[in-house]
Amino acid sequence: MACVLVVEDDPVIRAALIEVLAGHGYAVKTAHQGFEALREITQSPPDIVVLDLGLPDLDGLDVLRMVRGISRVPVLVATARDDENEIIRLLNAGADDYLVKPFSGGQLAARLAAVLRRSTPADPRAVRPPELRVGDLRIDPTARTAHLDGRELVLTRREFDLLAYLAAHADQVMPRRRILNEVWRQPYLEDQTVDVHLSALRRKMGEKARKPRYLRTVRGIGIKLVSSP
Ligand code: CA
Repeated sequence: MACVLVVEDDPVIRAALIEVLAGHGYAVKTAHQGFEALREITQSPPDIVVLDLGLPDLDGLDVLRMVRGISRVPVLVATARDDENEIIRLLNAGADDYLVKPFSGGQLAARLAAVLRRSTPADPRAVRPPELRVGDLRIDPTARTAHLDGRELVLTRREFDLLAYLAAHADQVMPRRRILNEVWRQPYLEDQTVDVHLSALRRKMGEKARKPRYLRTVRGIGIKLVSSP
């Protein structure tokens, strides 16, 4: 039975969420505030988190960032604001999906199931994926580490995913739409989301957009990581 941590300060909404989730076979734990949620995630990690953004003690976006600092647990954000920029911020901060309030119990359950399906840990018996070597870049998909010229790159989850994806498709121009679909699994996001992460990656890899070494932008087409810069 998957365990959901519901982070919600409103007792009426909380009770409704508990009922819906228990009805769909989840074990439900609750936290009323941001710090309480962080403590719960640290002490007895749930399988997935439903996070309300409007909490009394901390801003939900800050909670999300702090969660991402300590855990890869999938987070589905419940937001009252149906605002494009807000949603980009949430996804960039590490939300796996979001729901705009008010939402139905059925939609919540379906979204949770979808996020859990995507995030189910790989079968431990499966073959360990090989380390990717592209030029002086070394990427270990299992350990989720990346080294450039022997130096470890400190990357966010998405930056790592983007780099590993481009490395796995070295020397191919990857359209942003395809990257959003396959790395973010959210094809309806703005192309700009990819560019934000690309510039962060370039900075960390010591590259300039005007004179990139590995990460090339092919105008009007997409992005490629070149194997012999
Ligand atoms: Ca609230």
